[in-house]
Amino acid sequence: MTRAGFGLLTVILLANEASGQVPRANDAADIPRSAAPRPRMSPADMAVMRQPLQPIEKIARDMYVIAGGGGNSIVRVTGKGVLLVDAKNGDKETFDLLVGQISTVTRQPVRFVINTHGHPDHAGNNGRFEAAGAVVLGQDRSAAHSIEPPPGGQAPGPPSRVFHEQKIVRFGDATIELRHVVAHSDGDALVYFPDRKILATGDVFTTVPSMAQYASGGSAYGLRDALERILRYDATVIVPGHGPIVSRSVIEQRFRDLDIFLARVEAGVRAATPKEALLSSIKADDISIEPMGFTWNSPSQLDGLYLEVSAKIGMKP
Ligand SMILES: [Zn+2]
Repeated sequence: MTRAGFGLLTVILLANEASGQVPRANDAADIPRSAAPRPRMSPADMAVMRQPLQPIEKIARDMYVIAGGGGNSIVRVTGKGVLLVDAKNGDKETFDLLVGQISTVTRQPVRFVINTHGHPDHAGNNGRFEAAGAVVLGQDRSAAHSIEPPPGGQAPGPPSRVFHEQKIVRFGDATIELRHVVAHSDGDALVYFPDRKILATGDVFTTVPSMAQYASGGSAYGLRDALERILRYDATVIVPGHGPIVSRSVIEQRFRDLDIFLARVEAGVRAATPKEALLSSIKADDISIEPMGFTWNSPSQLDGLYLEVSAKIGMKP
């Protein structure tokens, strides 16, 4: 995710200020806007997002995770060099720390980088790895996002190679299955290592608030469908875009809760709840989704959600 947009709450259910007094869809219009729960991120979630680059951690034979300094990175060591999933925040210090951590487990250089999507906290060092001789591969729409600079920063640089719907990469002894989904952005890739049953979700799933980011072509229904797709892999280790490794049951819960959330948003739109009152009218004390999270740092997210849901149920917004 980018700083421009945090959203759907997750496993960590924020204290719901509106618990027990959430207005029903049909009377939500009477609630003044100032009474809506104030969007915020929990201190624990902020800590994950601002985490400095962490020591490399082994998760399977020849496979490692490096958290912090942006999104999670996965390292696969092969006889042909290192394959890296996601290149973290784009700055020389992060790049040097990342390469430094990799060098504690192998002398091999990074020869192959895969982007889960083009946001700068995942693709930020594309250009540096390319300059160092690596091939960078991403979904073709991810290239559109990786040329947009983050606020006050440099554009990550597009991948040197792109794929469209699916791709199987063979690199050294590793086989990697890539699958395009439109979810957090329109250029997301699920990255699967079948021989280790390890799946990198990018920001399709994070343990901190994540969401369909409309400015990047994301889709809330696409996010729900992508979570369902994740459950079709025989993965036993799921590496989120941000936050610690999770098991399948966490993905199952997120899928179920997002499905419930979207049904409630649909009901609100059908009941002609004014857009401004829509999110605060959604019952959320029994799901791991924070509706107001949809607008955190980006109020225009509400427009995207309202439009998408209206189109889905065949109503004119
Ligand atoms: Zn992202």
